[in-house]
Amino acid sequence: MGAVKEWFSNLGNLFANMNPIVDIIDILIVSVILYYAFMFVRERRAGKLAVGVVILLIALGISELSGMKAFSFIIENIMQVGLIALIIIFQPELRSVLEKVGGGVTNIGESKRKSDVVSWLDELTTACSDLSDSRTGALIVIERETRLGDEIRTGVPVNADINCALIKNIFFNKAPLHDGAMILRDGRIHSCGCFLPLSQNNSIDKNLGTRHRAALGLSEISDALVVVVSEETGTISVARNGKLKRDFDKYTLQNELVSLLDLDNRESGGRLKLRKNK
Ligand code: ATP
Ligand code: MG
Repeated sequence: MGAVKEWFSNLGNLFANMNPIVDIIDILIVSVILYYAFMFVRERRAGKLAVGVVILLIALGISELSGMKAFSFIIENIMQVGLIALIIIFQPELRSVLEKVGGGVTNIGESKRKSDVVSWLDELTTACSDLSDSRTGALIVIERETRLGDEIRTGVPVNADINCALIKNIFFNKAPLHDGAMILRDGRIHSCGCFLPLSQNNSIDKNLGTRHRAALGLSEISDALVVVVSEETGTISVARNGKLKRDFDKYTLQNELVSLLDLDNRESGGRLKLRKNK
């Protein structure tokens, strides 16, 4: 009961000491935090946990108001342990959110050389199309704001220009580095043979195997774009934000990547022959 009274008294003090400008900023900051917390819960696998937390908060309120000391003691302790548990459970997600916030700040003013991107995109999409034709499996990650150091450490550094022949060479199924993912960073092939976290999402199509699950898994915890070429069907897919878009060809893949990488088609100087459909 004490805590609830104290909460109301704090609320009273808050209104008594209002300063309009500070309060508007205060409300804006809280709104932004609540918005991002909501988006975090909605976009991740936190929906059921959020319901659990709300139920615990209601239980805490009821126990405080009704003066049930033992029940209230238990709930309060569960809340304390639960907070630490939540931080541990969502460590990868929280880390990726913080990395995104940090990345957003550090990248202000950094303008990417679009023509460079256009030229390596062309190499990449041509390679994917050829790999698809020859039914060669491939998993290619385009790193963006979220740094993928953990995944890069599991592979072999390559540090090469993005080149169609080299990509096909690496994924050739007798080549030593064909297994695992290729990670592209800053317009270069940074590493190959990298292990990506598998998605735990149960609603993924059961026909999709671990290559596609790995692509989805990484896209759930980062802003990376992951291109998958299926060894079984030759289908080209793109994973982004935990969702998989399928059935791309060379041109639709170019279109998709250009728009996802926020490139303006005009910047390509006509080098990308963009078409709506095949
Ligand atoms: P495909 O349509 O190409 O058969 P799939 O989704 O059915 O793809 P699998 O057949 O299981 O997937 O593909 C296995 C290959 O996927 C492995 O040989 C490896 O190269 C790659 N792979 C599997 N898991 C991972 C992972 N966690 N990280 C990176 N690459 C992975
Ligand atoms: Mg398979």
